[in-house]
Amino acid sequence: MRLALVEAGRAAEGGDVPVGAVVLSPDGTTVLATGHNEREATGDPTAHAEVLAVRRAAAALGEWRLTGCTLVVTLEPCTMCAGALVQSRVDRVVYGARDEKAGAAGSLWDVVRDRRLNHRPEVVEGVLADDCARLLTDFFRTR
Ligand SMILES: [Zn+2]
Repeated sequence: MRLALVEAGRAAEGGDVPVGAVVLSPDGTTVLATGHNEREATGDPTAHAEVLAVRRAAAALGEWRLTGCTLVVTLEPCTMCAGALVQSRVDRVVYGARDEKAGAAGSLWDVVRDRRLNHRPEVVEGVLADDCARLLTDFFRTR
């Protein structure tokens, strides 16, 4: 999560909402990929931290299935990212701050643990939640 927070800081440097993500290998020892919000930087509405990190991890592994991998992100995933995480087959989603307005991993929806879907990653929330949330509130305060 510390690394995801560093990534989140990079998003803010580019004028993007500070959210950062990291994909860890199945044994948890290797960082396969990182990502941060790049919507403003790239003009791509799908350039959320999680989507970028998952894409890069798949590229690094040479296949789309991220079975066994863990995605760590500073903010609860939105519906798009939750869908992408289910599709990527990551085994674990770890997030920091809850997103009561748009979260899809326990707050507003729970897409990642919807029993109607055939893949449901384990979810761990609240890791360094205060640090993750502070980054966001500081960002919006200075805008
Ligand atoms: Zn998202």
